[in-house]
Amino acid sequence: MINKTVGKRIGLMGGSFNPIHFGHLMLAEQIRTTIGLDEVIFVPVGNPPHKALQTDVTSEQRYEMVKLAIADNPFFSVSDIEIKREGISYTIDTIKELKSTLSSIDQLYFITGADAILLLETWKDYKELTQLVKFIGATRPGIDSDALLKKITQLKSECHAEIELVYIPALAISSTDIRSRISDEKSIRYLMPESVTDYIYQHFLYREHHELFAPFFQMLSQTLSKKRFRHSVETAHTARLLAIRYGEDPVKAELAGLLHDLAKEYKNEKMRDLIDEFGIDKDPAIVHLPNLAHGEVAAGILKRDYHFDDELILEAIKWHTYGHPQISSFSKLIYVADIIEPSRDFEGVHYFRRLAYQNIDETIIAFCEQCDHHLAEKQMAIHGNSKKMVMTLLNQRKNDNE
Ligand code: ATP
Ligand code: MG
Repeated sequence: MINKTVGKRIGLMGGSFNPIHFGHLMLAEQIRTTIGLDEVIFVPVGNPPHKALQTDVTSEQRYEMVKLAIADNPFFSVSDIEIKREGISYTIDTIKELKSTLSSIDQLYFITGADAILLLETWKDYKELTQLVKFIGATRPGIDSDALLKKITQLKSECHAEIELVYIPALAISSTDIRSRISDEKSIRYLMPESVTDYIYQHFLYREHHELFAPFFQMLSQTLSKKRFRHSVETAHTARLLAIRYGEDPVKAELAGLLHDLAKEYKNEKMRDLIDEFGIDKDPAIVHLPNLAHGEVAAGILKRDYHFDDELILEAIKWHTYGHPQISSFSKLIYVADIIEPSRDFEGVHYFRRLAYQNIDETIIAFCEQCDHHLAEKQMAIHGNSKKMVMTLLNQRKNDNE
């Protein structure tokens, strides 16, 4: 028979989880198994009293990342109790609210880094808090254990606090370090579950962006097909990397990459009307295939409907499909990013991917030659701009070699 007088032992693991990483997961798992907890609830903080969070990552996104990270552990769950609450998140309020949803015989264990124990007296209503939960402090490298033991003795005699220390393996991972790695374009693989790195990548978290990046990202996620949106996202990432490689503005390159196919899915009829409205040159290739003009049309739409006026970005979007005889260094990057982004799969793509980081002009020349060949096979004309662009680039190559 089940003994109903014995409550559950529930661990609470608070944190900003900005983002969650293996340090957090390892800590929760070690404590769960050492103390013998029935479950661990992760509680991402809403507005922490002690530290300011980065503003470009929302509470919902931090919550979502925790959800992804714990998905394969049946003993772990996540609560949105703090991120749903308005105002500053105090642990005491969270504990009271959680207790009201649990059985009165359940015992709560508040899991924290031992460093937090040293600061416990700065927490709101800490004396009352120690009556509601038991504390499990995980010792981490760099913590002065004499000071810690002294503090625990003091808290025990002062308010009968129950504090247990658990030694856990040292994992020198922190969210702060992860964030700076991302903004330095370093890898974060193996520091957290792959589902979380994927989420960070797909949502462009922890990087500096153009101020219009978020609203356009939102708009495109709702208007483009899934496949086209994914391609746009990948082009944005690739354009950013190419910009870093070639000393162009990565923030602008990312936005140009994101927006380049804004008009790609317009129907032919709409495309023809817009070609007329924007006075786009009717090259035979465009007459044959109006969709080809989607770059120039996208730039027209951005100007007309969004009053977007960054000429560098507009030019790059305009010429990303067939190029331009005087294509700018910046526009070349968007042209190439579109070709080599990781979701592209065509004959020779690996070669173009490698070449792109060595010589952007040679990548364009080689790609146009391949296109010319394919189009000739299908008896289709290449756009005049592409031919002229290749001529210009070949002339430059000749001059450089002389
Ligand atoms: P930040 O760098 O932004 O301070 P963080 O990586 O320390 O973030 P928090 O969300 O502040 O993560 O931490 C939540 C809890 O996890 C805290 O109790 C903290 O002590 C603990 N913790 C964080 N990183 C590790 C780690 N590498 N090993 C063990 N415990 C950790
Ligand atoms: Mg911390």
